[in-house]
Parts: sequence; structure tokens; C-alpha cells
Amino acid sequence: MISALVSPEPSQDIAAGGKAPQTEAAAPLEGTAKEAVAPEPPTAETAAPAPSATPVEAGKYMIAAAHPAAAQAGAQILENGGSAVDAAIAAQMVLNVVEPQSSGIGGGAFMLHWDEYKRRLDSYDGRETAPAKMKPDAFLTAGGEPKRFMDAVIGGASVGVPGLLKMLHMAHQRHGKLPWADLFQPAIQLAENGFPVSERLYSLLVRTEGLRGNPVTNDYFYTFTGAPKAIGTILKNPDLAETFRLIAEEGPDAFYDGPIGQDIVDAVRNAHRNPGVMTATDLAGYEAKRRANLCGRYRERLVCGMGPPSSGGFTVLQALAVLDEFPLDEYRPGAPGTIALVGEASALAFADRNHYLADEDFVDVPINALLENAYIRARAGLVDRAMGEKSKKQPGHPRGKQAAADTSLELPSTTHISIIDADGNAVSMTSSIESGFGSRVMVRGFLLNNQLTDFSFLAERDGKPIANRVEPGKRPRSSMAPTLVFDEDRELEMVLGSPGGSRIIGYVLQSILNTVDWEMDPQAAVSQQHYLSRNSGVEVEDGMAAGTVEQLENLGFTVKQRSMTSGLHMIVKQDDKLLGGADPRREGTAIGESQVLPNLEKAFDFIQAGAD
Ligand code: GLU
Repeated sequence: MISALVSPEPSQDIAAGGKAPQTEAAAPLEGTAKEAVAPEPPTAETAAPAPSATPVEAGKYMIAAAHPAAAQAGAQILENGGSAVDAAIAAQMVLNVVEPQSSGIGGGAFMLHWDEYKRRLDSYDGRETAPAKMKPDAFLTAGGEPKRFMDAVIGGASVGVPGLLKMLHMAHQRHGKLPWADLFQPAIQLAENGFPVSERLYSLLVRTEGLRGNPVTNDYFYTFTGAPKAIGTILKNPDLAETFRLIAEEGPDAFYDGPIGQDIVDAVRNAHRNPGVMTATDLAGYEAKRRANLCGRYRERLVCGMGPPSSGGFTVLQALAVLDEFPLDEYRPGAPGTIALVGEASALAFADRNHYLADEDFVDVPINALLENAYIRARAGLVDRAMGEKSKKQPGHPRGKQAAADTSLELPSTTHISIIDADGNAVSMTSSIESGFGSRVMVRGFLLNNQLTDFSFLAERDGKPIANRVEPGKRPRSSMAPTLVFDEDRELEMVLGSPGGSRIIGYVLQSILNTVDWEMDPQAAVSQQHYLSRNSGVEVEDGMAAGTVEQLENLGFTVKQRSMTSGLHMIVKQDDKLLGGADPRREGTAIGESQVLPNLEKAFDFIQAGAD
């Protein structure tokens, strides 16, 4: 059963929790003892490469990321003796160039790091914060109603203080092997020399609101006729190359306490829509944090996810804990009964997530109580065995806790990187500027996030405060679920995660079930047609067999069919092999030592060839 575990001490086995629910004092974090809590399937527009039938194989190291250039840049670093964190930084900076809509230094991220030698897990929080002057009614209309989502997204008010760079710098100081400045070189070259506009980027430019209205993004992404720059057009970003050069030479201070930061503040405050209230003090005061680890058992494995302010780790773990009560291996993957059961477990977990999860620096999140064995058994008893449950699940009352529910939305952009280096260290990092192209505000070549719209727009419901309400300095609740799974001997077995808003939770859950219960390889696991529940009917990916949908409806479920652009990147360690799976719905790839290209220029040739 699941229990919230602690950050293991160096050389301490991570399976400290045992079968019984258990909470222990966490390993000291920054010298302080802390409490343990430890866009859609390929449509004509977003078509991604067809899935490779088999996973990529390697024996030494592997990286799976959302663009071949990013994966190559990371693999180069690994080939040159860099650590998993070094590779993550290089790949992330390249993604900022070639997948600008999803992530970058204008946004935030969560990273799990496994140190194979010390046998130590660390959870890093680089989530954006609300500026000190942000008001609780920031996303309400003059009449006090929640704004239309896109009305809140575009402009300066949705921009949180970016956390990515400080988090990466913190992780690099602890786990980096190569010099910080070297890790920016691939991205600098690429931003300077240019990269071909991909099919996916083009299709997003066609349909994204709010980019043409802003002269900076209009000039960068569109031609003078207003059409998006065509697929294959070489896009150069000298401003971003210069920004990276500054950060490479001077470190994150150039960003948080220097000229880049000043430009961010000016752009946010003078945004022509929804001007924001961020100040230079907000930026200078930003802190990346190490959080207590959040792990739980599932069928003898140990699954570790990201704790608050993300809801990703908790929700995956609670759904797994409930499913641990059922013999899923006797179910057929993708069958209506399986979808119903997994949907029920997810719906229950989402009911608790929506009610309780938020930034625990501001709100008491009863995460241990929500994962205790007795509580889980009671929740599992609510799974409707007749599978006819149509009504919404209600949150439980562990130890009498209560807060009002929150229905904030998250829209798909975001990116996930999975890495295992030659020493067996691993990084699972999900990184985001929230919506596609974030707030649409572009500064010095990069886009600023709209992560603050992950807060609940309303502060209370039925007179009760909403846990995820807006508060100055607070981090909006996330669904990002970077995950590491350890086998029954507590050896690292899987590294995975995905973009996809709150559907991330379903994508990660399904991929774990596919691997553990149905022994799929990682490519098959990430490619399988999606099904999930966020406590509002069952959602299935377009193309699901009509018979399956009909049977689910006959069981009493409301079924919504839609495209689901997950971006799962998964590495599985099997004996001495590394197997990699990349989501066929986006442009990503997995690369091991035999696919790495000899030098970076070749990597760029490779991308160029890919565009032809
Ligand atoms: N902003 C979302 C979150 O933090 C992620 C958005 C996405 O995956 O597209 O959970």
C-alpha cells in the first residue's frame, strides 16, 4: 500500500516506509529537519511522426525529450561525461529555442533527481510564485465573476515569477559535472544559426490567439502577411542567444537581479492587455526549493512523484493505492471494465486533489492522511463495482479536514524530459510556461509563463476558503507529475512524465499500469490510446473503438471523446538495458549512445534533414 515516505539519507534505502503507513523525519533539507509529506492525438494540424513499433535501446545512457535537437544536445552532454542534470539543462535550453510554446526560462519546472551512488532521491521545486502585490481578485471581472480563461491568460497579470533557472542552478550545484556555461552552448548555437519551423509549431501558430496582436511575437513567428512562418523556415533568435550568453557567463543573477529581470518587470507591468504587478524585488527574492519526497508502494514497486505545490505525485499515488486493491493483471488493457475501474480510482483521487491540494507553504495539505492505508481502503470501497457510477465523487474527510473545492483548469503545452546517465543517475523533469506560448509576452527572445492562471480564480465557495486561491508569494497548484519508479529491490526501474494539463495525471497513471500490470515496453506503454477520469465522466482519446465507448455508456458512464496530446517520455531499465519510449503524439524522441551524433553541427544537420 501507499505511504508517504521521506527523503532518504545518503546510502539509506528508499524503501524506508514498508507496507504499513509510516511517516518519518525527513533527511535534513538545507540544514533544516522538515516534516515528511513527504493539444491533442495527431490531427491533421498537429500530426506527429508515427510511433516507432519498438522502443529505442541503449546500454549506457539515454535521454527522451520533446524534440530531436533537444535530445541530441542532451545526449552529446552525456557522451562527453556530463551528468543527468547537465544533460537536462542543455536539453531544456534547446527546447526553449525549438519548442518555445511549451517551456523555458520564462517559466517553471519540477525535477526529481536520483543519485545512484548515494542512493538518494531529491525533489526540486522551481514553480512560479505570485508577486507580492497580487490581489485575490486578479482573475475576476468587475462584476466579481471568474474571467473567461483566455481573457485571464493573455498579458502581464498571469505571469508568475519564473523559477526554472534558479531550480536548474541549484540542481547543477549539487549534481552537475560539466561547467554551467558549457551547457548553454548548444542552445546558443541553435538560436544564432536558426532552426526549421516544425509541423507542430506551425500548426500551433495557425490557431493560437494573442500572438499576432503583440509586435514582438508577431515579428518573430509571422510573416508580414500575417501568416505563420512556413514549415521549414529557418527561425533565428539572436535575442535569446544573447540572453543565454549572459546567463551562461554571469549565472542566474543576470536574470533575477540584473538587466534581464528588469526587462521582464517592464514587460509585465506595461503589457498592453492585463498589466501585471511584478517588481524587481519579486524576482530577486525568488527561491527554488527542495521539497520532501513523496513515494508510495504499488505492487511491490516504489513510485516517487512530485509533492505540493504539484498535485501530480499525490493524485497518481492515491489512484495507484486504490487500484492496488484490485487484480488489474486479470483485466484486459483498454477493455471497458478496465477503463471503468481505472476511471473510478482516478475520479476518487481527483475529488481529493481538487479539494485539498495547494501550496503547502500556505495551506495545510493533509497528504499523509489522504494516503493512509485505512483511508485508502475506505476510498477503494467507494469504487462502484457495478461500474454504473455517474455522479461525481466527493472528497473524503481524513482526520476531519475541509476546504472548498477548486475547479481551476489547465491547458496543454509543457514538456517532459527523462534521462538516465552513464552512472545510473536519473532526472525526471516536467517544465512549463503553462498554456501554449504562455502569456504571449516575449522578452529578450523568450516567452513568459501564464502559470498564475493555475490558481483558482475564486477565493471561496459556500463561505469556505479554496485551498488553491490566489495569495501573494504562493505557488499555483500544478498537475505536473515527473515520476521515478523503483523495483522490488529498490533499483531504479522507470523514469517518466508528460505534459497535458491535469490530464497529465491520467497519462502517467496509465503508463505505469501499462508497464507494471501488463508488461508493455515503454514505447507501447506511451502509445496506447488514452482513457482517464478527472471526476467528470470518462474521457477517451479520439479513435477509441465505438464498441468500447458504447459499453462504457451502457455501464452508466458519461463518455467524452477528444484528442489528447500527451507528450510522454519514458525510460525503463530492464536487466542491463535501457529502453526508451517517446510519445507519437508530439515530436519527441529517445536517444541512447548508439544514436548520438558525433558533434553538434551534425545534430543541427540532422534536424535540417528532418524538415525536408
Ligand atoms: N500548468 C500546468 C501545470 O502546472 C501544466 C500545463 C500543461 O501541461 O500543459 O500543471
